[in-house]
Amino acid sequence: MTSSRTTTDACVIGAGPAGLSAAYVLSQNHKDAVVLEMSDQVGGISRTIVREGFRFDIGGHRFFTKDDEVDRFFQEILGDEIIWVNRTSKIYYQGKYFDYPLKPANALFGMGVGTTARCMFDYFAVKARGLVSKPEIVSFQDWVSNEFGNRLFELFFKDYTEKVWGIGCDRICAEWAAQRIKGMSLSVAVRDAIRPQKDGKVATLIDKFMYPRLGIGRISERLRDEVESGGNEVRMHSRVAAVNHEDGHVTSVEIESPEGDYSLEVNSLCSSMPLTELVLAMRPEAPADVQAAARSLRYRDLITVNIMVDKPRVTDDTWLYFHDPTLKLGRIHEPRNWSPEMAPEGQSSLVVEYFCFEGDEVWNMEDKDLIELTVRDLDLRLGFLKPDEVIDAFVVRTRKAYPTYEIGYEQPLQKVKDYVAGFANLEIVGRYGTYKYNNMDHSMKTGLMAARNILGESRNNVFDVNRAGEYHEEKVLKR
Ligand SMILES: Cc1cc2nc3c(=O)[nH]c(=O)nc-3n(C[C@H](O)[C@H](O)[C@H](O)COP(=O)(O)OP(=O)(O)OC[C@H]3O[C@@H](n4cnc5c(N)ncnc54)[C@H](O)[C@@H]3O)c2cc1C
Repeated sequence: MTSSRTTTDACVIGAGPAGLSAAYVLSQNHKDAVVLEMSDQVGGISRTIVREGFRFDIGGHRFFTKDDEVDRFFQEILGDEIIWVNRTSKIYYQGKYFDYPLKPANALFGMGVGTTARCMFDYFAVKARGLVSKPEIVSFQDWVSNEFGNRLFELFFKDYTEKVWGIGCDRICAEWAAQRIKGMSLSVAVRDAIRPQKDGKVATLIDKFMYPRLGIGRISERLRDEVESGGNEVRMHSRVAAVNHEDGHVTSVEIESPEGDYSLEVNSLCSSMPLTELVLAMRPEAPADVQAAARSLRYRDLITVNIMVDKPRVTDDTWLYFHDPTLKLGRIHEPRNWSPEMAPEGQSSLVVEYFCFEGDEVWNMEDKDLIELTVRDLDLRLGFLKPDEVIDAFVVRTRKAYPTYEIGYEQPLQKVKDYVAGFANLEIVGRYGTYKYNNMDHSMKTGLMAARNILGESRNNVFDVNRAGEYHEEKVLKR
């Protein structure tokens, strides 16, 4: 056991941005709190792994928020570690690179006049049809086709979205498109590609974002430091295996640690562990229908292949998106293009993302085979590097990277949420903690809100964060 304490006022499960934001506020308010983290590193999915002088995030993580409180919080935590990064991204489609956001001339020359004309025809046809009757919008496919026309859906949305989710676009909820596309870059970008604005500018795209110069994991590392200097503990290698409750109150948590298993009595609990796992960890057990609902909610998993390269730069971009279904990889970023301090002088690195399901063919590949496949595609298919330029490489497998908004998921999720809401001293926060496709800023915001609930300062509903349609990027342009 890492500490002899077996009681705490507040207990926080998970040392990612959400859990640590909650613990930070509790610590600043002199509330006794213990953070329990099952892994050996803080940061969760937003951690930065350091190897041989190189620094790797789990896929590129830019910081963006339109919430003033989170913006101030981020600046307060990271201060002069923050740098501004120019965003330059490309989509690789049918052997060609398209600027992302799409630019009219680039898209026209890239797609060819015939395809562009077909896209324009489809786009105007769908808009004209919309004037006569409103179609029923259920799936992602319905939403995008209705917004942009079927041809553009097939060209720029279908393949990549299906790669990310591993299910057909006709099985993904329209809500996902509404949350992530509506009012944000791609809708404006695609529209402007076929209907340029008078001043030639895309009005709502950010072309810069904030980033900690030593990697995104610095957010959680700084928060951890503040929690500890406030006198509270962040216990690593401490996995919460069960949550005990009585009369609608959580009473204690059961912890597995290398030094032995033990219980921690709690007055309140703030959980950022996956909501589905929390429900299955409740003792006495949750009712059978609630457990079944939790089991029916799925996640998409992620593999990142991290490659250290012996040349100063590989690409010019922050992100590269690969729609091509014949390439297994989905997205690449080059950490040096985010911050020069992410790689040693004169060298660079790539993080290559594979979206998969735990247990599928890609997930089950041996690390050495994944690295070999990645280097082969980077060399022969994409021309980014030669095998002899690779210094070293390693693979990271991340379970539950994306909560899956599959059609029909709302009902079981509501059942799970209703069950959890029945515990007066339990707060759920974060991305997996709330089963919501939250970005870091949303995750941090839920942590701040939950801490205030625990302190009795307010009664916030964390599901008010990141509501559909709220996500757009105008604010940053005005900075
Ligand atoms: C590929 C990818 C790219 C992304 N890019 C961006 C981006 O550009 N910008 C952005 O804002 N967001 C991005 N995100 C989202 C961002 O990663 C999340 O919003 C954020 O990490 C969620 O924080 P969290 O604290 O809720 O969860 P997590 O980061 O997952 O942290 C949860 C922690 O809880 C721990 N834990 C789980 N179960 C237990 C248990 N039983 N006991 C103890 N500990 C436990 C885990 O080990 C983990 O450390 C991206 C996500 C992915 C997958």
